[in-house]
Amino acid sequence: MTLDAKIPSGPIEQAWAKACFDMKLVNPANKRKHSLIVVGSGLAGGSAAASLGELGYNVKCFCFQDSPRRAHSIAAQGGINAAKNYPNDGESVYRLFYDTVKGGDFRAREANVYRLAEVSGKIIDQCVAQGVPFAREYGGSLSNRSFGGAQVSRTFYARGQTGQQLLLGAYQALERQVQAGSVTMIPRHEMLDLIVIDGRARGIVARDLVNGKLSVHIADAVILATGGYGNAYYLSTNAKGSNATAIWRAYKRGALFANPCFTQIHPTCIPVSGDYQSKLTLMSESLRNDGRIWVPKKKGDPRPPNQIPEEERDYYLERRYPSFGNLVPRDVASRNAKALCDEGYGVGKTGLGVYLDFSEAINRLGEKTVRERYGNLFDMYQRITDEDPYKVPMRIYPAIHYTMGGLWVDYELQSTIPGLFVLGEANFSDHGANRLGASALMQGLSDGYFVIPYTVGNYLATNKFPKVEESNAEVQSSVAVVKQKIDKLLSIKGKRTVDSFHRELGKILWDYCGMARTAQGLETAIGKIRALREEYWKNVTVAGTGDDLNESLEKAGRVADYFELAELICIDARDRNESCGGHFREEYQTPDGEAQRDDEHYSYVAAWGYKGPDAPPELTKEPLEFHYVHPSQRSYK
Ligand SMILES: Cc1cc2nc3c(=O)[nH]c(=O)nc-3n(C[C@H](O)[C@H](O)[C@H](O)COP(=O)(O)OP(=O)(O)OC[C@H]3O[C@@H](n4cnc5c(N)ncnc54)[C@H](O)[C@@H]3O)c2cc1C
Repeated sequence: MTLDAKIPSGPIEQAWAKACFDMKLVNPANKRKHSLIVVGSGLAGGSAAASLGELGYNVKCFCFQDSPRRAHSIAAQGGINAAKNYPNDGESVYRLFYDTVKGGDFRAREANVYRLAEVSGKIIDQCVAQGVPFAREYGGSLSNRSFGGAQVSRTFYARGQTGQQLLLGAYQALERQVQAGSVTMIPRHEMLDLIVIDGRARGIVARDLVNGKLSVHIADAVILATGGYGNAYYLSTNAKGSNATAIWRAYKRGALFANPCFTQIHPTCIPVSGDYQSKLTLMSESLRNDGRIWVPKKKGDPRPPNQIPEEERDYYLERRYPSFGNLVPRDVASRNAKALCDEGYGVGKTGLGVYLDFSEAINRLGEKTVRERYGNLFDMYQRITDEDPYKVPMRIYPAIHYTMGGLWVDYELQSTIPGLFVLGEANFSDHGANRLGASALMQGLSDGYFVIPYTVGNYLATNKFPKVEESNAEVQSSVAVVKQKIDKLLSIKGKRTVDSFHRELGKILWDYCGMARTAQGLETAIGKIRALREEYWKNVTVAGTGDDLNESLEKAGRVADYFELAELICIDARDRNESCGGHFREEYQTPDGEAQRDDEHYSYVAAWGYKGPDAPPELTKEPLEFHYVHPSQRSYK
């Protein structure tokens, strides 16, 4: 297979405008004749469904929560980037584009990233018009702060609740369309298969999570905006419900999965405190605007942090990266924290922690200002750790947070299955091997508000959609596959809970395919995953029935998919014999421990295709070309 990314020809600055002009339009009167399915109503799906409803299409929007307001996007804390240059500090569309390509360690597609930077300003205008309460300066203009990998302040925020406020904006827009009758919202339904007819995505099979009923939904195109797969690692900062099932089942129907091993490990999370834990909590990157990261200079120093004098502290990021200091990108900050903890400088009971200290900021700005900026994050930290971060430094450690990999999409956000579009964290585009902070919200809303309304129209205007009956053989085969899987999971009646398998799987991934990876370790991981998966299908226990609300069954299906995805993550990581961004192969590092890329051999998107349960996945490469931001060793020094 060859992959056509459909990148418009000509100068990058005009690519999106040219593409929009070249794309075919659907006559306004014909839009209501087209039906669309949007799976997911987080920021990407909610904004897409609202925009497509507003255009006049007939939209069905699905989510597994009881309300779109509960999508994982609500958890986003720190902010959303946009090239507005309000602080007049050197920001531009080109700089945002440049920083994002460099931040992703030159493993993203330039044209997509440029478009993202280009539409970023419109997102802020749209959200302000919806009433999103962004922080403001005294004079009324919108306020900005900085995130990692940037030397300008381009991040718009609403205290530490930016995702929640943006989601409320998208939700209002969505509900307006629900009220107008153009969008039908179908909550508490989980998509369990994609229906592909004559090579095109034509619908989904969904399970009603309350009564277990399976239903078939047919449409002219399907849009997946189902979020990331970080929960494959069990412990992550993601909402517990976030999962990979929709994209994984689309992969098994023929959509290629790109760069699965590009997972992001966020440097500032509350450290793991025990085996009972099922979730990790993020302390937003925005805290690194004012918090300073350090460890004691003496290994295993037993003194409490406030008794360690200034000259005995190692502010290692400021020391090693004087230009960016505490605001180096996430992959760099995470690796440094791990390296110091591995050498014995870590703090806290487990030694797996470093300090994030606000004492200097509190002295400089006053507690009131710090409280205004980060109050809800400090409260959250105190509730979880029972320590007061206004008085003692936070203890933080890296944790799985975001997945840059996802279903492969072209410039139009269409997967390798015609009619299947993928938005937000669920696709692989834009962030390369490392996402810069505050860029996920930007991408999700760019995809949903500004890209998909054009590209799906082009698809609809240039294709024919013969009527599909529920009796169609492909439809019935998808339903049968879903039923079979549910029946099988319920029939095993083994001895181990789904969670115990998931926890063990997550530990394998974290140990062998987490912050550091080696060819040998990945080989071991693949063997362990296969053995555990085999045991899963013989020994898992799923209580209850399929005809009722059954969370154990929901989880069992998702964990079954994680087992397969975990193997692909490791295969991809083993195949990529270089380090780039969050993918750190210990064999490939510079003398001072930074990621060592191999542009000659690995400057491509690795897109994997499903070849059957017992066959290895097939790799197709999309070569990456850099005409504007030329690959160089990333330096934040
Ligand atoms: C703690 C935390 C803080 C963050 N802070 C920031 C930040 O400050 N700035 C930033 O840019 N990014 C941040 N991120 C990342 C960002 O929040 C996410 O990448 C983004 O919100 C994902 O949005 P999405 O719409 O793609 O997916 P989600 O918000 O995860 O939405 C997924 C949707 O799909 C639905 N769904 C999933 N599977 C199915 C299925 N099988 N059937 C039916 N429905 C399904 C869900 O119900 C949901 O509606 C943060 C992430 C975390 C974990």
